[in-house]
Amino acid sequence: MLIAPQIFKCGSEDYLSLSPELFTLPHNTHMTKSALLIIDLQNDFLEGGSLAVPDGNEIIDPIIELAQKKDWDLVIATKDWHPQDHTSFASNHGVKPYTELEFTSPENEAEKKIQMVWPDHCVQNSNGSEFPPKFKAFWEQFKGPKELVKKGYLSDREYYSAFSDVWKLHKTELDSLLKEHGIRNVTIVGLALDFCVFHTASDALRENYSVTLVTNLTRSVADREGPPSKLQALGAHLAEYNGSEIIIK
Ligand SMILES: [Zn+2]
Repeated sequence: MLIAPQIFKCGSEDYLSLSPELFTLPHNTHMTKSALLIIDLQNDFLEGGSLAVPDGNEIIDPIIELAQKKDWDLVIATKDWHPQDHTSFASNHGVKPYTELEFTSPENEAEKKIQMVWPDHCVQNSNGSEFPPKFKAFWEQFKGPKELVKKGYLSDREYYSAFSDVWKLHKTELDSLLKEHGIRNVTIVGLALDFCVFHTASDALRENYSVTLVTNLTRSVADREGPPSKLQALGAHLAEYNGSEIIIK
């Protein structure tokens, strides 16, 4: 039986395809789908927030512009989303914020990590966990394909990557959402470059996505130079958004 070829949309171009039963191409050789991943653009990481990233507010407008400008196959925004008793809060250990403590894997007593503890931030349903007003308004009216991914909600473990906790034990839905939408290219922006952006990008590389870090649409807590060069060494593309397009450096 002959099955008629079908036209299907990918971005702004039309592609001619045969039915997959008749003609199976290796995955993604005929089209490459791209997602914009907006990491933790939340009040607590912005000016006036409990864990404000210096100059974080400067990236809000251009991120909104970039999300609207390009024909993304998927736009994902992430939220750090902690219960009040979260283990990453200094207040839950009786120490000052930015102290380094030793943590034990929730599933393996022999596995330890030294990690920094933080001021209380992004507590579930608090104002600090909200998107800033302008981004919130954009997100609510945005008609393109979009998904919200929350992380950090298991109280006994830290999460930096939007893919999983730091012990790589609990996966969020991010990887399966990207796969469901056939995404291979991931463009990453948001906060903070030296923590959640870095770990999300390195996990995306580990999961074999093609990763582009838009360096001028991120801001750092402290280290501006190290994370981009480490990511580039791992295979990420470094790029800048110039107000109309993303230019690979
Ligand atoms: Zn957090």
